[in-house]
Amino acid sequence: MTSISKELREELSRHFVIQPITLEEHQKSNDGTIKNAVKLFDGNVVESVLIPTDSRTTACVSSQVGCSLDCKFCATSRLKRMRNLTAAEIVDQVSLIDQQSKRDFNHPLSNIVYMGMGEPLLNFNNVVDSVKKITTPHPNGLGMSPRRITVSTSGIPKMIEKLADENLRVGLALSLHSAIEEKRNKIMPFSEKFPLEDILDSLRYWYDKTGSRITIEYIIWKDINDTKEDMNALVRFCQRVPVKVNLIEYNSIGDPEFQQAPPEITDAYIAALERHNIIVNVRRSRGKDIDAACGQLANKNKLTVN
Ligand code: SAH
Repeated sequence: MTSISKELREELSRHFVIQPITLEEHQKSNDGTIKNAVKLFDGNVVESVLIPTDSRTTACVSSQVGCSLDCKFCATSRLKRMRNLTAAEIVDQVSLIDQQSKRDFNHPLSNIVYMGMGEPLLNFNNVVDSVKKITTPHPNGLGMSPRRITVSTSGIPKMIEKLADENLRVGLALSLHSAIEEKRNKIMPFSEKFPLEDILDSLRYWYDKTGSRITIEYIIWKDINDTKEDMNALVRFCQRVPVKVNLIEYNSIGDPEFQQAPPEITDAYIAALERHNIIVNVRRSRGKDIDAACGQLANKNKLTVN
């Protein structure tokens, strides 16, 4: 900042630090998806992903370095949770992807999902502050609409209610994967502390407060949740609070226990849900070839280099 005096610059640098993220590496998928390895001021690295479609660009951002949860099917759970990201580090990931989108796709970033590394609701204050910064009008914020932001959680009831109280007008997604308690506890062991009844109560609270339908994220695995009983349990869950279901394609992380169920099973799920007028979409995976897809973020390149 050469427009201010040298004395003032020195004074500023005595009192403030600027710790921007740096782009350590980026990889481009053959479907256009870009995965960024982002280096933080203390040397930690997180990943964020730019997902392009014809008309829009979605940013998938990380909220923590590593993750403290233990979802058996997710690569990030294999990394130790080192620390929470600051609000600025989250906003910086968004700005970086906005620049990449303008440069490579000629339009700005349009949507943001908090679905990268970490559990956003376990870094509550910084995640909320980052949303506020992103949605504050220019020049103090990025001026984006909260309607284009989705916060995804593995399901921590108290924090879902707390987020509802913030009145941010963002969307909420819940990673459910099984509506049968014992099964869910097996694949997401931390959830033993959070019974499905409590999660349902918190979703109801969310809906009453915000009027916004919750997205249910659900992967269908062979021999894990591929029976009629699983489908019926999901239908019953979805009948108790306004939701829409996203069936997510499973991205392998090398564990043979988890295999995507065959298409007939997905079709049976869709039929069961639609029979009860529940909205359901199938989400195609993006960026798989560069390990940039859901559940594959694990600083892989970094780990093999070390
Ligand atoms: N902790 C948050 C956000 C990060 S995970 C959450 O759990 O919602 C983002 C989404 O990717 C979640 O729905 C998660 O269940 C899903 N996911 C995790 N591992 C996956 C994998 N291997 N294949 C496909 N989706 C996966």
